[in-house]
Amino acid sequence: METTSVRDNHSFGPSKIAIVGGGIIGVCTSLALQDQYPHSTITLYSDRWTPQTTGNVSAGLIFPYSIGPKTDPNLLDRLLGDTMLFFQKLISDPLSGEIGVSLLTTYELNESTHTTIPSFPNVLDIRQLTENELTRIRGNNERLRSGLKCTTYIAEPTLLLPYLMERFKCKGGIMVTQKISALNQLTVINDLVVNCTGIGSRYLHDVQDQRIHSLRGQVARIRAPWIRHAILAGLNYIIPNRDCVIIGGTKQAHDYCMEARDSDMKDIIDGCALLNPSIRKAEIIDRSADLRPFRDSIRLERDPNYDRIIHNYGHGGSGVTLCWGSA
Ligand SMILES: Cc1cc2nc3c(=O)[nH]c(=O)nc-3n(C[C@H](O)[C@H](O)[C@H](O)COP(=O)(O)OP(=O)(O)OC[C@H]3O[C@@H](n4cnc5c(N)ncnc54)[C@H](O)[C@@H]3O)c2cc1C
Repeated sequence: METTSVRDNHSFGPSKIAIVGGGIIGVCTSLALQDQYPHSTITLYSDRWTPQTTGNVSAGLIFPYSIGPKTDPNLLDRLLGDTMLFFQKLISDPLSGEIGVSLLTTYELNESTHTTIPSFPNVLDIRQLTENELTRIRGNNERLRSGLKCTTYIAEPTLLLPYLMERFKCKGGIMVTQKISALNQLTVINDLVVNCTGIGSRYLHDVQDQRIHSLRGQVARIRAPWIRHAILAGLNYIIPNRDCVIIGGTKQAHDYCMEARDSDMKDIIDGCALLNPSIRKAEIIDRSADLRPFRDSIRLERDPNYDRIIHNYGHGGSGVTLCWGSA
């Protein structure tokens, strides 16, 4: 993967910047550019906004998950480390409760006998689980034989996105609801255009990236306030949010169905109830599905053919986890 930084020849930076895509990646990119270039006119274009973005379905756990395997590990560390620092700052804000940012004890469990501890930057207390801890955390799923524990952030896009968008508008950012058919449409009137359209990059006329595809995820939101830690185990996960608990999931490549399916729902409940049987008694508040923008490698680079275009998309199951670093 290639990385690039915005370079400009004059001290005030580009005078007009456009960002396309109003999901977590586009909104963070708009804010970061605003910080970098306070004198520029910055416009964010999108055909959909929260609560209709992919992030709104997600739990918002800051933990690398389903990222294209060809992504440079050093870049990944940088993106994760910078995003962790961003949430570290937000958590010390009195607003953190309202905007859905908090710390969360998280367990990742595996069927293999050994879990290698990744060197996730700025993730707190990451370590192997002892045998004793494992038997208490895995519920009735005895196939799980090793795991790790850490403390990370949860950043719920449904609460966070409106706050970030408001911050952008308050500092003079412009938001336009419009479907863009080609990025070149915007290079005519902007010095710089940043593409944050996620799966939309398959369809933009001058991008048509066939390396990005959907990795469908289905979840349910349940009422289970007694669950206070996150567990990830293969396809299944249980992740508390402020007002509900999210249970998942599926990873269906090239599946573009946005409706929740009964068959997936049954697998999710069965899998999560093995980890925590109390789930069977919890009220289901909502079921939903969305498409993770999966690419073999995150695309974060200047367009090789159009100097004014920068791409920032393809974050798979980790768009929230890498949002600020990528921005
Ligand atoms: C079930 C599920 C659970 C998840 N859980 C987590 C999690 O716990 N932690 C985590 O980090 N990640 C999670 N993810 C992944 C995360 O949600 C995504 O990686 C992230 O939301 C992608 O953000 P994005 O801004 O790139 O894309 P999107 O949110 O899809 O935003 C793209 C935006 O571009 C706009 N757009 C597209 N094409 C055009 C166009 N031509 N013109 C104008 N606008 C356009 C769209 O309207 C949209 O607003 C989960 C995903 C799913 C489905």
